[in-house]
Amino acid sequence: MTRNSVVFMALIVQKYGGTSVGNTDRIKNVARRVAEYRKRGDQLVVVVSAMSGVTDGLIKLAKDIAPLPSEREMDMLLATGEQQTIALTAIALHALGIPAVSLTGAQAGIVTDGVHTKAKIHNITPKQVHELLNAGNVVIVAGFQGETPEGQITTLGRGGSDLTAIALAAALKADLCQIYTDVDGVYTADPRIVPGAKKLEEISYDEMLELASLGAKVMQSRSVEFAKKFGVVFEVRSSLNDNPGTIVKAETKSMEGVMVRGISLDKNQAKVTLVAVPDQPGVAARIFKAIGDANVNVDMIVQNVSHGSGAPATDLSFTVDKPDLLKARKVIDGLKSQIGYKEAIADEKIGKLSIVGVGMKSHTGVAGKMFDVLAREGVNIDMISTSEIKISVVIELSKGESAMRAVHGAFLGA
Ligand code: ADP
Ligand code: ASP
Ligand code: MG
Repeated sequence: MTRNSVVFMALIVQKYGGTSVGNTDRIKNVARRVAEYRKRGDQLVVVVSAMSGVTDGLIKLAKDIAPLPSEREMDMLLATGEQQTIALTAIALHALGIPAVSLTGAQAGIVTDGVHTKAKIHNITPKQVHELLNAGNVVIVAGFQGETPEGQITTLGRGGSDLTAIALAAALKADLCQIYTDVDGVYTADPRIVPGAKKLEEISYDEMLELASLGAKVMQSRSVEFAKKFGVVFEVRSSLNDNPGTIVKAETKSMEGVMVRGISLDKNQAKVTLVAVPDQPGVAARIFKAIGDANVNVDMIVQNVSHGSGAPATDLSFTVDKPDLLKARKVIDGLKSQIGYKEAIADEKIGKLSIVGVGMKSHTGVAGKMFDVLAREGVNIDMISTSEIKISVVIELSKGESAMRAVHGAFLGA
């Protein structure tokens, strides 16, 4: 960071998502935005995602060949999406006469663990980034990817370019971190589902984290976790206009006055029910240890009271991310003879509807009101989980969006 009497030169990390680089016109638009900041004398590190639809397309190609492809090879494949856009963005900047160099995650010094397809960042040594910035370049970094210390390419989980940007902002001690996307900021609910959703001026890390992990895909949840841990304040804003976005930062006293900050709907979960699991100590531990060992995240868990005569047995339900369902099924099937449950039922037609707000800590009656709205809408609640600042329910997927609008109307206006 350099100051002189006239200009303040800032180091800015900007991230552009899939839609923002979705075609060559959009990439040229990104280059123009970057050029404007550069004209002010700022130093820029630009993180880009793959063009929208490209990562999904690559996953589909692999799954057409094998339903459970090697995760190492998936990372090799998926990392190519971002490699296209970094080069195209650099080329677009060159066309405007701006020096720019693209780097892969590995070249930018992003070192991860070896958990393919959802690797965690271990450390970042952005030596090349610093050198290129100091030489006057805009540095374009491929989002969503890194490399293990052994040199294996990894990816950081879906939506992982957000994490690349936040982690780089922390490592570079950037003055500003901007996440450019295809909406004007973080809304009280997905504006594509709830027309009455309102843009938030600010939101706390904890609220953003809950909304993101509960299905609001506007930010990857792990990136928000990282931002909270390292105190990276960031702004979510549109790449298509100049409207101010939403600032995500630590909680302030004034935020507590709002009971419900936002509502999310996660359509990406599946429920597994194990019928008639022997009700003995150690059984749940064995099941969830095996699932954890396969790197499948389990979210909600509900166990019913024992039923049946003779040896006590219970039904055990839990939710996992849909893409992990096949892996979870494989683990569960492998445990069948050892554990002796009767059958395993998978249900992909579920939605998890959640309301989030730090103000819930000091307000009561939120759950009752939410359940009442759902009852009036004729929506049956399948599972419930709560924390200090959120209430989540699992409901039938087909009723998810209308339930979301009704709950939004009741708490945040239509
Ligand atoms: P990008 O490709 O820029 O990373 P994403 O598609 O991952 O963008 O995220 C942006 C999308 O997130 C929006 O188009 C919007 O439909 C969705 N979204 C879900 N919940 C919210 C919310 N609460 N606020 C804003 N957008 C949301
Ligand atoms: N291209 C990756 C994905 O679609 C990463 C990202 O967009 O952030 O998940
Ligand atoms: Mg995204």
